[in-house]
Amino acid sequence: MAPEDYDVLIAGAGPAGAVLALCLAPTGMKIGVIDKAEFPRYKICGDALSGKVMRVLSRLPGDTLQEFLKIPGIVPCDGIRFVAPNLKHIDLPFHPSRPSGPMTGGYLCDRTTFDHFLISRVESFRNIHFFQKESFANAKEHPDGMMVFTENRCFRAKIVAGADGVNSRLRNLLNPETFEKKHYSLGVRTYFENISGDFHERLIELIFLKTVLPGYVWIFPVGEGRFNVGLGWRQDQVIRQKAALGPLLSDLVKSHPALAARFRNARQLAPIQAHLLPLGTARIRRSGHRILLLGDAAFLVDPFSGEGIGNAMASGEIAAETIRSCFHKGDFSDTALKDYDHHLHRRVVGEFKTSALLQRLAGFPWLFNFVVNKASKNPDLKELLTAIYTSEKAKKKLTRPGFYIRALLH
Ligand SMILES: Cc1cc2nc3c(=O)[nH]c(=O)nc-3n(C[C@H](O)[C@H](O)[C@H](O)COP(=O)(O)OP(=O)(O)OC[C@H]3O[C@@H](n4cnc5c(N)ncnc54)[C@H](O)[C@@H]3O)c2cc1C
Repeated sequence: MAPEDYDVLIAGAGPAGAVLALCLAPTGMKIGVIDKAEFPRYKICGDALSGKVMRVLSRLPGDTLQEFLKIPGIVPCDGIRFVAPNLKHIDLPFHPSRPSGPMTGGYLCDRTTFDHFLISRVESFRNIHFFQKESFANAKEHPDGMMVFTENRCFRAKIVAGADGVNSRLRNLLNPETFEKKHYSLGVRTYFENISGDFHERLIELIFLKTVLPGYVWIFPVGEGRFNVGLGWRQDQVIRQKAALGPLLSDLVKSHPALAARFRNARQLAPIQAHLLPLGTARIRRSGHRILLLGDAAFLVDPFSGEGIGNAMASGEIAAETIRSCFHKGDFSDTALKDYDHHLHRRVVGEFKTSALLQRLAGFPWLFNFVVNKASKNPDLKELLTAIYTSEKAKKKLTRPGFYIRALLH
């Protein structure tokens, strides 16, 4: 089989792979994108796109953000309702002092629609060739690049990006070891309509129940009276508790005091489905041998919030910068690729240490109750709590013992 020549070959056309392709498009490089699925493809998700996603969209070529805002049915999200284990809640608008808008808050958007939107933009560039239903099988080095094999095709590229999701095969080439279960979260989700309660339609709800800490149940309003409802919990804890997450979610919405009354007349619209989230607590090699790993393939899900889309897209942007520099210098060595790790650490991975600490703190229900109680009476603390979803500095403050002592004294 004669190889097809590309400058860059991207395996996986989710948000990470699509953003990388879009960022490289204006360079005129010849880019191949392969995905094992046929688009629009189905994706299990909470459908929440954070402010980080909006910021990446605003930097993509063309009017990507403006075009995104035209998608029918997207729902603006202006903040979070945080429900503590004692069932007290606090509403955290993202920027109470500033007008809401696409750059401050986020949006709810069905993932199949969002990912298809991104890949349609990719397909509009002539220098990008998108191959659907092509599953990455293997890759090997050759003197001037990498050979990449799918079942039907063979590609030759100077550099290969692994954006092939949580079960990445490209990741295995750099990290043959398996990762511990504590570095994954298991997520289950379904859709409901007719949920009752005094929720605000522009807030997403995170409900931290004592029995599943530091995991949480989410209720996200996705428009037209429908809700994305799910449960995320660290995989090692799911195994330790011998929990079956799908039946557990069904049980919680039927019988937990925080949920049962609200779901009494609710109608479930879809079966409960499960998928893994690879958390940023894992130590992993993300570059080398002309390969860069992006998004879920690189374990870039925030260990506290479970956010993965914004980080996947940010990794696409950062990988594009590194690839441009490699081509500029004609240097594809492991040392040149290390630039990617360096920038990824500075802009994405560095935050995970604090998030991991917050994840551990969230395991203590009394501490959680204490912070939410205090924040409901103290506007400064409330603003700080809001900021943990947008600011690393705020997250760090919350992990310092001094913070709790000061809160105790006020
Ligand atoms: C239940 C659940 C809820 C979530 N909710 C949210 C949320 O609300 N907000 C948020 O920010 N994050 C959420 N996440 C995380 C988020 O979905 C991921 O972090 C995000 O999709 C990562 O993007 P990606 O491009 O790296 O991978 P993906 O979106 O998984 O894309 C990977 C692509 O690679 C393709 N692929 C896989 N194997 C191969 C192969 N061998 N060859 C070729 N192609 C291949 C797949 O078909 C897919 O298109 C959630 C995750 C789960 C499981």
